[in-house]
Amino acid sequence: MAREEDAIPFDRSCDALIIGAGFYGAEIALELRRLGLPDVLLVDRAPAIMRRASYANQARVHNGYHYPRALATAERSRANFEAFVSEYADAVLPDMTSLYAIAAGSRVSPAQFETFCRIIGAPCQPAPRHFATLFDPALIEQAFLTRELVFDATRLAARLERALAEAGVTLRLNTEVHILGAAETGVAIQAGPERIHARHVVNATYADIEFAGVPLASRVRKELAEMLLIAPPPELRGIGITVMDGPFFSAMPFPAAGLHSLSHVRYTPHAANETPEPETLAPQRSNRDAMLRDSTRYLPCLSRARVAGSMFEMKATLMRNEHDDGRPILIERAATMPRVLSVLGAKIDNIYEVRSYLRTQDWGAP
Ligand SMILES: Cc1cc2nc3c(=O)[nH]c(=O)nc-3n(C[C@H](O)[C@H](O)[C@H](O)COP(=O)(O)OP(=O)(O)OC[C@H]3O[C@@H](n4cnc5c(N)ncnc54)[C@H](O)[C@@H]3O)c2cc1C
Repeated sequence: MAREEDAIPFDRSCDALIIGAGFYGAEIALELRRLGLPDVLLVDRAPAIMRRASYANQARVHNGYHYPRALATAERSRANFEAFVSEYADAVLPDMTSLYAIAAGSRVSPAQFETFCRIIGAPCQPAPRHFATLFDPALIEQAFLTRELVFDATRLAARLERALAEAGVTLRLNTEVHILGAAETGVAIQAGPERIHARHVVNATYADIEFAGVPLASRVRKELAEMLLIAPPPELRGIGITVMDGPFFSAMPFPAAGLHSLSHVRYTPHAANETPEPETLAPQRSNRDAMLRDSTRYLPCLSRARVAGSMFEMKATLMRNEHDDGRPILIERAATMPRVLSVLGAKIDNIYEVRSYLRTQDWGAP
């Protein structure tokens, strides 16, 4: 029986169409070119690449410390950290000091944190006195000097833009995409005014992953997140601080704006849901005062931070990791449309798992 999708002529065809030009979509497009697909199209509704979660995040290149309750994620982060830092050296702040501080009432004790770091092989030593005295000793049990870095999202975007042009990936911006259905030897796509036939489709739309037109078997939790951008007091310049493990906070350099980001486990999330409706970043009442007030109790010098503004972004995580903090990559082929691959990149360094997966797939003869 003839399919409806095949009846109307296509305006264009391509080997692969990637929906979403965030860090993941851009990297996937490059990998597919390296795998020999001649005609790769990368499409985003935004006016430039990396405008959404790939910009508005805490910029941490994870090295495992964050995940004492999710060992597999901690180990994957450790395995990816040096690879990421070396591959993207020009977009990583090279000389950041990273402190992890264990708060009184934390779910891990200082001794447990040290043991955990030893298990995953992550550098960790008691923080020298001039760092330890940054914290209120009544609220912080111990601070550790660790090795973690941050990336500069603007540099990453510039680098990817150059790489996409050099690789001959066709980039189409300001273009909304919707998957229409399976078509003969491919997938029918509506991209702006055009109907496109793609042999393969990758849905790399992160917070909108369920709305590209293909069903997702995994359940995704979305949370509207607020991060403050602050001009830190001089003592915090070049220092990233993470207070563990519970309703505490992180203050990290945010090189793309020359400021620090401040996120708080209790006040950064505004609302969470798993409704079938696309989300908008509706203006919210800011939690900035509560965030800063509570963080200042632990790190008194924050009282001299100047708030420059808030970044709002939708955070997408897997429901199955709601209670263990795990951040695995999701790679899912649609049962009804096996030529569509959905990829949810839970954190930036998971890109190495995606590349490995793409290399195992048969992309067929061009
Ligand atoms: C608050 C917050 C803090 C985070 N902190 C960190 C951190 O410190 N370290 C870390 O490694 N990770 C962090 N992450 C996770 C990280 O940001 C994501 O893993 C990563 O950015 C996902 O990249 P992406 O390309 O999949 O998504 P995005 O960058 O969001 O790209 C998706 C793109 O799809 C486009 N799109 C969506 N639907 C359509 C459509 N129908 N048609 C056309 N275009 C469409 C969007 O415009 C967007 O550009 C954080 C995330 C958040 C939200």
